[in-house]
Amino acid sequence: MFDDFKEEQSIIYKIIINSFKKNKCSHAYLIETNNYIKSLEMVKSIAKAFLCPFNYTNNLNCNGCNQCKLIDDDNFIELKYIKPDGEWIKKEQLDELQDLFSKKAVIGNKKVYIIDGVEKLNINSANSILKFLEEPEEGIYAFLITDNINKVLNTIVSRCQLLSFKNNIKNVSDDLESKVASKIFNSENKIQDFVTGEFTNNFIVNSLNFVDFYEKNHMDALIFIDSLWNCYFKDRKDIYIGFEIMLLYYNDILNYLLNNPIEIFSDYKKNIQDISLNSNIMNISKKISLIIDLKEKIKYNINTNLLMDKLIIGLEGCDKVE
Ligand SMILES: [Zn+2]
Repeated sequence: MFDDFKEEQSIIYKIIINSFKKNKCSHAYLIETNNYIKSLEMVKSIAKAFLCPFNYTNNLNCNGCNQCKLIDDDNFIELKYIKPDGEWIKKEQLDELQDLFSKKAVIGNKKVYIIDGVEKLNINSANSILKFLEEPEEGIYAFLITDNINKVLNTIVSRCQLLSFKNNIKNVSDDLESKVASKIFNSENKIQDFVTGEFTNNFIVNSLNFVDFYEKNHMDALIFIDSLWNCYFKDRKDIYIGFEIMLLYYNDILNYLLNNPIEIFSDYKKNIQDISLNSNIMNISKKISLIIDLKEKIKYNINTNLLMDKLIIGLEGCDKVE
């Protein structure tokens, strides 16, 4: 049920709930899994909330709705799931889908299709689905899932609203915690305290998540700052550590751009590569100076919410400069 993901994938949860409230759902969503293990399960739960005439997000509330019951039994004809047949998604699979979806819904007035592994559309099969994506008929919604957004054809990406799953299953290694600690602190005691700290893993994962999210979504980070940052970094001391970790991460992105070895976050090489695709030495250097400047202000009485706004707007400024 969709409500099960309220905490774990809070950003996507809020986006979808808001679109229900405003009655402004996108006709096509591209879902980047980031190897989140429950991706398909969550997408199916979103599809169910779309199809339910009441947009109910948990079974307790929705009793008696036909659609929800049929979906739970995997028996709902207006929900179609497609995955690669062999190496590719074949044109015939999509032709069949469009044929099926050209008829009016038998139950309710909505239809949903899920294409899993959308990077496995070849040019031929992609062409057959493009028009379908481009001129959506009333009541038809698409969820396209990919593990590798860089391999999805641009013509597909540009027609969809992007949703990225947050992979918070990841645990950082003890080794990474020690490397980070030895860069931030200089006394042996403080290093030990950090490495054994209850929230150390969270601090590292969430600092990196924030940077990854900003680099993909830019100013949208302002909207999601509560669930991205504020709920994890509560007092000045935590925020200071978060900024230190962000600095180390941007330093490694700079290392990568300079063809130097990645010093600390070698486990995150894929993320670093993704970010570096849209970055250059100049804007990353500027971001590093910006974070150093703002980090110094944390010690003084700057309002911490304002600080994050300043950070996001400042980062965007670094990206705007040619
Ligand atoms: Zn229902």
